[in-house]
Amino acid sequence: MRQGTSGLALALALTGCVAPLSDREDPRVAVAGPSASPFVQVGAETGVPAELLAALSYIETRMQIVDARAHGREALGILGLSSEDLARGASLAGVSDTAARTDAVAGLRAGAMLIKERAPGARTLEDFLAALDDGLRDEVTTLLVRGVDAHGVTIAARPSLDHSDGFGETQQALGGADYGPATWSAAYSGNFQTSSRTKVDHIVIHDTEGSYTGTISWFKDPAAKVSAHYVVKSSTGAITQMVKEQDVAWHDACFNTTTVGIEHEGYAAMPDKWFTEAMYAESAKLTAYLADKYSIPKEHGFIVGHGEAPDCSDHTDPGPGWNWAHYIDLVKTGGVPTFLAGDAMVDGPITLTSGEHTTVTVTISNTGNAAWDLDATRLGTAAPQDRESSFFVDGDWVSAARATGVDARVEPGTSGTFTFEVVAPNVREPTMFDEGFQLVQDDATWFGPEVHVIFNVQPTGDDGGCNASGGGSGASACAMLLVGARALVSRRRRRTRGL
Ligand SMILES: [Zn+2]
Repeated sequence: MRQGTSGLALALALTGCVAPLSDREDPRVAVAGPSASPFVQVGAETGVPAELLAALSYIETRMQIVDARAHGREALGILGLSSEDLARGASLAGVSDTAARTDAVAGLRAGAMLIKERAPGARTLEDFLAALDDGLRDEVTTLLVRGVDAHGVTIAARPSLDHSDGFGETQQALGGADYGPATWSAAYSGNFQTSSRTKVDHIVIHDTEGSYTGTISWFKDPAAKVSAHYVVKSSTGAITQMVKEQDVAWHDACFNTTTVGIEHEGYAAMPDKWFTEAMYAESAKLTAYLADKYSIPKEHGFIVGHGEAPDCSDHTDPGPGWNWAHYIDLVKTGGVPTFLAGDAMVDGPITLTSGEHTTVTVTISNTGNAAWDLDATRLGTAAPQDRESSFFVDGDWVSAARATGVDARVEPGTSGTFTFEVVAPNVREPTMFDEGFQLVQDDATWFGPEVHVIFNVQPTGDDGGCNASGGGSGASACAMLLVGARALVSRRRRRTRGL
């Protein structure tokens, strides 16, 4: 998860700014990382679990301070609150509206007060989760089960929260959606025009400038006077249908009569954080279905951005960050992205002393046709897959089987880095470890080469003269002795090949 901090700096940052997990069965660091301190601080101040604050901020704004309004209600501050909620929370927290909009700590204080107001007796994470609306509780729980590693914050995975048995999803699949994979959730009847139209000649692509759940609740709000037929979720590509295709949704003031509108969760100004491969793929399948059903050419021009469509507003969504070439390609090919990776290179020391921390960077080239998104593409343990690594660093890894998410979004044809901390396990004699890793997409699809990182771990103390007390020179001397036949390159830089 590391983003260019030295090991020492990170160690200091972690000392000052980690939140322990509130669940005793999983005694690990809940929230950590170079950008974690606002969540940890406000969690400690207010008693609202830091991981809940961080999860809500991730869901609403990807932990960015926003000031947005497009088709939705306003999304303000680090929690994307409406102006009414922000004002109420700020008042309860004793901070100014301006501070709650523009400062992370003040914005989280305001949000924490709103949460406490809803859950006055809550003490544990489960208590607070129980006070959330169903949709948001499900979203937060799903996020916490998998953990987060993006935007400078690691939220530890908490599989113990996973109580799903698949029944909820089965229930959601039943319903009134025109498009089979969509969940049906009707917009407020005053936010669209009922009709019995059969002609649709264009598909209009929007982005929400707000969150998925926030947009869905807005289209259900009588105050909105806007709607769209479909809303697509950024992290998974999940789709909610809110207006029947035969009815006229109000998504594009002068271009509604013969169009279907698709809203995409996210912000046009932050395409790398929101316009994910999962969303492109699932949206493209929906658009392909609509194009086939209504005989619309699968071309940019018939499939248009709101900003390019005839309109009576000044909307420009989804903006220049929407990858039209890739999207239309997916519409034509059925929305199946290809994840492939080429050779990998490992950068990090070979010899460590028990208890010593160091940073490892794995660089891998993206040879598929799909981007690797923040937090979606992770470096997991391999050989065997999902192995619990003894080099796991609490507070840096998402779990003992997930070293890190990709450091930044990686477009096809470029290389990406995966940077993470390791800590050498305790050994009684010099021991060689072969730690296998592999890329995994959305915790489901493994791809690319198995990357082997070799460590020679020395015991502490002065067994055999290979101890760290002499500093770097001692460690190097040991490396010279012990690198041996399995070393792949030189002291610091190693290259491994795809298998
Ligand atoms: Zn729009």
